[in-house]
Amino acid sequence: MRELVPDLLKLAQMAKAHQLNFTVDAEEADRLELSLDVIGAVFSDPSLAGWDGFGLAIQAYQKRAPQVIDYIDDLCKRNGRRMMVRLVKGAYWDTEVKRAQERGLDDYPVWTRKPATDLSYLVCAAQMLSKRERIFPQFATHNALTVSMILELAGADRTGFEFQRLHGMGEALYNNLLSGNERIACRIYAPVGGYRDLLAYLVRRLLENGANSSFVAVAGDKNVPIANLLERPVERLGIDQGKSVRHNQIPMPLALYGERKNSAGFEFGHRESLEELIASLAGQTAKVDAAPLVPGRRAGGGRSCPVAGRPQPGRRNRAYAAVADVDRALPRAARDLPVVEDAGRGARPARQDRRPVGSQSRPAAGAAVRRSWQDADDGIAEIREAVDFCRYYAAQARKLFGEAEAMPARPARATGFGAGAGVCLHLAVEFSLAIFSAGFGRARRRQCRRRQARAADAAHRL
Ligand SMILES: Cc1cc2nc3c(=O)[nH]c(=O)nc-3n(C[C@H](O)[C@H](O)[C@H](O)COP(=O)(O)OP(=O)(O)OC[C@H]3O[C@@H](n4cnc5c(N)ncnc54)[C@H](O)[C@@H]3O)c2cc1C
Repeated sequence: MRELVPDLLKLAQMAKAHQLNFTVDAEEADRLELSLDVIGAVFSDPSLAGWDGFGLAIQAYQKRAPQVIDYIDDLCKRNGRRMMVRLVKGAYWDTEVKRAQERGLDDYPVWTRKPATDLSYLVCAAQMLSKRERIFPQFATHNALTVSMILELAGADRTGFEFQRLHGMGEALYNNLLSGNERIACRIYAPVGGYRDLLAYLVRRLLENGANSSFVAVAGDKNVPIANLLERPVERLGIDQGKSVRHNQIPMPLALYGERKNSAGFEFGHRESLEELIASLAGQTAKVDAAPLVPGRRAGGGRSCPVAGRPQPGRRNRAYAAVADVDRALPRAARDLPVVEDAGRGARPARQDRRPVGSQSRPAAGAAVRRSWQDADDGIAEIREAVDFCRYYAAQARKLFGEAEAMPARPARATGFGAGAGVCLHLAVEFSLAIFSAGFGRARRRQCRRRQARAADAAHRL
């Protein structure tokens, strides 16, 4: 806010001085809350009083679009000024879907079926038309059906709003529309800049126009009957016929991997989650040392050194295990093996870490970040990787060892259990938790036999 608000304000003041309109584009969903804060601060600045040229773009594919319109309307009311609002469907649909999956979010920030976005656009359009006193609606679309339905929504009153198109697109549509309707206006958005600045813009247009869901692409396909182009979004959605508003080929982000659950992640663009994370990090002030635990009590007869890297409150020393620690740990592990091999008890340590991170357990995310001693983003990524390893090997164990099987390492006894106790040498400094979990998970998978299938079941629920 300290950096962006003054820069944006300066640009807005220049636009005002030249009596130009000035619109802040809409970008990725995780920037929405921050954008609204910046826009709110700039718009409310007294130096912009008496100028109605300030505006922003709102994306109808975002599920929060109607709430954003209400927020802007309220902002205008509080400042006694009008704002220009460009309504678009949204240019980053694929990115939003992929990102939500990668981040292990609870749900997608965008609709996953095209007619849902089309319908959302119309709902937002009606909302904006009803607020024309404070909002100047700018409908940016190249979809002829969307344009016609907006005109239908506006009815006889075709003042106080405009259409927008991109330079080089929608020419035929708007030439046709404007030639018979004097009171309808269409502004043309022409990007300016060098090749480097415009490349991303051009690539987005290429992707958009090539997509088989795009109106422009479908309208250009002679095999698609006109009746299909004119099917209204509500009919295409088919909610009354029992169809889901969700795309049936796009699983929820946490169900991405089918047989095993995706690890729950964290949305830094969600203000509430971020504030909880920061508070939970600030609340953890106790100093901690890293050391091997044998068996559950501090060991570490090896070298000890300060933790390297960025200084962080709470981090102190780390101690390495010595051969003597291994000598103590191995017999103990062998003794406890039957206990570990017992399905229910073997699964218990795994259950303790059941939800290390995720929007459901934000304070736990703070603990996880601090434990991994990294930046929040890296820390959460590492914990998620560790969880994914555990779940992956649990799923593998269930698949491969659901049935009893003799182990070559213990042919004489052929008990149907694993290869026995072992030492997992763990040398990683970076991403140590994830790498440890990978080695440990592999070892656990090897131990899984017959009764362990139940343990794997439990681990699978992590
Ligand atoms: C003047 C102007 C300014 C623009 N400024 C911005 C901006 O600031 N920010 C921005 O993000 N975009 C911006 N856009 C691009 C805009 O968001 C759309 O990508 C583009 O206009 C295509 O929408 P349409 O109504 O013309 O076409 P249509 O073909 O009717 O719609 C295509 C759109 O539908 C949506 N969609 C496609 N598949 C699915 C699916 N499976 N589930 C849900 N939704 C789906 C996507 O949003 C896709 O872009 C701008 C467009 C114009 C004309």
